[in-house]
Amino acid sequence: MLTFFFFLIIVMHSISYFTLLAVTLGFVSLPGASAASAKVYDKCVTPGTFALTFDDGPYKYSWSLAEKLEAEGIAATWFVNGKNWVNVATDKVEVNGEMKTYKQVLQKVHDSGHQIASHTYSHKELAGQSNQVIRREMQKNEDVIRSAIGKRPTFMRPPAGSLDKNVLKVLGSLGYHVVLWDIDSNDWRTHNFESEQKEYKSVLDNESEKGGHIALNHEVYDQTIDELVPWVIDYVKSKNYRFVTVAECLGFPKESAYRN
Ligand SMILES: [Zn+2]
Repeated sequence: MLTFFFFLIIVMHSISYFTLLAVTLGFVSLPGASAASAKVYDKCVTPGTFALTFDDGPYKYSWSLAEKLEAEGIAATWFVNGKNWVNVATDKVEVNGEMKTYKQVLQKVHDSGHQIASHTYSHKELAGQSNQVIRREMQKNEDVIRSAIGKRPTFMRPPAGSLDKNVLKVLGSLGYHVVLWDIDSNDWRTHNFESEQKEYKSVLDNESEKGGHIALNHEVYDQTIDELVPWVIDYVKSKNYRFVTVAECLGFPKESAYRN
């Protein structure tokens, strides 16, 4: 009888150790122990605020765009990739006759008062991907961003807006807020000024009361930089909106845009 009890105790111990190991390795999630799914936002919560956002960079226009916006008193939000149009870890760009690394470019964008957020490492559409792939895309990008600005972002935008329940679960466990948009310039597709203007006007010219908006643009096209952005600045200001970062437009304190 005593032998049996010892046997039982040993078996129970092994089971609990095995469970502990499995939970630690992420094979099993205990009820109540799993993180909440990431929240998805597509508008600013504060009326009268406007979050201008740029995806797919950094690229050769980032440095001067960051300066230009800062000179206008505008803080924008940049959803960047570690490796998309450029490889941030290895590529360089000429700025005013001087070579800068893309890490220096990200630092410049950050230091100009803008918010840096994640757009995955390699611009991967996340719906349907394994947890491992989703985590790798997010964590590799965090490493790149941290190597440039010394901290990790807590806001992200999924490429192509591609999401599913599992993606939100994994992003939640990594501590991310997910940011979509309510104005889509479609600049990447049309490169057409008139249709881009229409996208903005269809929202801002038809408001019964003032809302808060998140506008999607891409910083990698010269037409966006040269034509669309200057117009957006004047137009949005003429509507008496205040340009803010995504963190601010969603009512978060400024420092919540990053973690160490
Ligand atoms: Zn993108």
